[in-house]
Amino acid sequence: MNNGKEKTQKLTTASGRPYVENENTQSVGPRGPLLLQDYILHEKMAHFNRERIPERVVHAKGSGAYGTFTVTHDISKYTKAKVFNKIGKETKVFLRFSTVGGEKGSADTERDPRGFAMKFYTEDGNWDLVGNNTPVFFIKDPKKFGDFIHTQKRDPYTNCKSPTMMWDYWSLNPESLHQVMILMSDRGTPIGYRFMNGYGSHTFSMINAKNERVWVKFHFKTMQGIKNFNDAEAAEMKSKDMDFSQRDLVESIDNGHFPKWALKIQVMTNDQAKKFKWNPFDLTKIWPHKDFPLIDVGVMELNENPKNYFAEVEQSAFAPAHIIDGISYSPDKMLQGRLLSYPDAHRYRLGGNYEQIPVNRCPYMVNNYQRDGHMAVSGNGGSAPNYWPNSFDGVYADQSYKEPAWDLEHSIADWYDRNAEGENDHYTQPGNLFRDVMDEEQKKSTISNIVGAMKGISGPKKDQIIYRQLCHFFRADVNLGTGIAKGLGVNVDEVMKHLKHEPAKI
Ligand code: NDP
Repeated sequence: MNNGKEKTQKLTTASGRPYVENENTQSVGPRGPLLLQDYILHEKMAHFNRERIPERVVHAKGSGAYGTFTVTHDISKYTKAKVFNKIGKETKVFLRFSTVGGEKGSADTERDPRGFAMKFYTEDGNWDLVGNNTPVFFIKDPKKFGDFIHTQKRDPYTNCKSPTMMWDYWSLNPESLHQVMILMSDRGTPIGYRFMNGYGSHTFSMINAKNERVWVKFHFKTMQGIKNFNDAEAAEMKSKDMDFSQRDLVESIDNGHFPKWALKIQVMTNDQAKKFKWNPFDLTKIWPHKDFPLIDVGVMELNENPKNYFAEVEQSAFAPAHIIDGISYSPDKMLQGRLLSYPDAHRYRLGGNYEQIPVNRCPYMVNNYQRDGHMAVSGNGGSAPNYWPNSFDGVYADQSYKEPAWDLEHSIADWYDRNAEGENDHYTQPGNLFRDVMDEEQKKSTISNIVGAMKGISGPKKDQIIYRQLCHFFRADVNLGTGIAKGLGVNVDEVMKHLKHEPAKI
């Protein structure tokens, strides 16, 4: 059919053969059966059947954009990373935002943490900082991750989301309380992606030109200001526009309103780490600003929408393992677990050559001897040697990139060491958040959001789960606990009777 447009390009098969008929399959006469030889029908149907790839198990619903990171302050005393080596230096970035628990078609305004995954295309390789809009997380050991995420997904029997599963798990894992508090505040329902902070969340390290290491936290503060939906507004937006955050991001960039974030870091020396009241590598804890002030680094601006959602956003793959010279890991257990699990997830979803997909590809040098495999689409090393060492190419392992050693205090930590002082204080920081950071309005909405969410707990274990979780809120702050108990119609004296018991014994 001709739609009246100027004819500029011939229609072709995937192999490039021009063809004449894209709607009617060849048949034996106008009313007869179809001919097998019309392979274009097969090609179209077969490709359509294969349009879906496995969705991400977590962070399935997402939005992405390209932008620029610009250095505004000199931090060379902490890091030799080339991305930071000159004030005014610009580096291309790709950022993917997401919700966490929902499927690919889920609503953008659900109460959920938001993913904040960044790829910096640097001359020393791609640096991925795969964070969230929260500085902490629900668990501090990756062995718990699968169990925890199951509670955020669908009940195996009803196939519905289950507040009972969620609160049962949280109440039995009090280390989740800090993140639960943030999630239940109005920051759990940000207005799209532009009005929220991003955090590297984990503790990383930075290494300077003298090969000295410091521990580091990354903070991306929104320059649009924090703006959140309250619970009712988020629910209303869910019914109006499931894709609110996606639409907001695309439209704001198309309209030239480029969102920006100020990158700041917190720095801790190894001596400070040894004296720190909490484990500085515990993902359920923050470093207080008054002890570890924010240091300005630069500004990230998003200014270009991807041309094709599937190619660039769905196929984008971030891995905390992708660090660059001058930036490194820490003993943060969750980070250590993610170093393995993220590339593993990408190999499953996208294949072993996922780093050859243009959005993931390093635009600078890539020299190694990995060859072949599905979709080896970027030259596959051409005629160069495919083994190392060899007598032909000039590829060498540059020793100037060698990292300084880590001094470890323990040989192999046994599980029981995890109860050392400062390891299991799950209450001070969530209490500080409620008491010292939230104003009266925020306190009220946090309590009301928690009450609303806990009202969904049902079934034979309902009272047990409610008492167990209420005890955690009381341990963090008496006013917080009292407010929630009242909202749920629970007698405070009854909760007090349980307070002396371990969570698992309630
Ligand atoms: P500060 O008063 O110096 O900082 C408070 C921080 O809390 C600010 O970063 C603020 O972000 C953020 N914040 C405000 N409301 C919320 C909320 N509802 N959910 C999550 N974050 C919020 O305090 P401290 O550094 O001493 O920390 C006190 C408590 O603040 C912590 O226990 C923690 O719960 C929370 N917090 C601390 C962070 C840190 O890295 N120190 C980071 C984020 C939260 P903003 O400035 O953008 O408004």
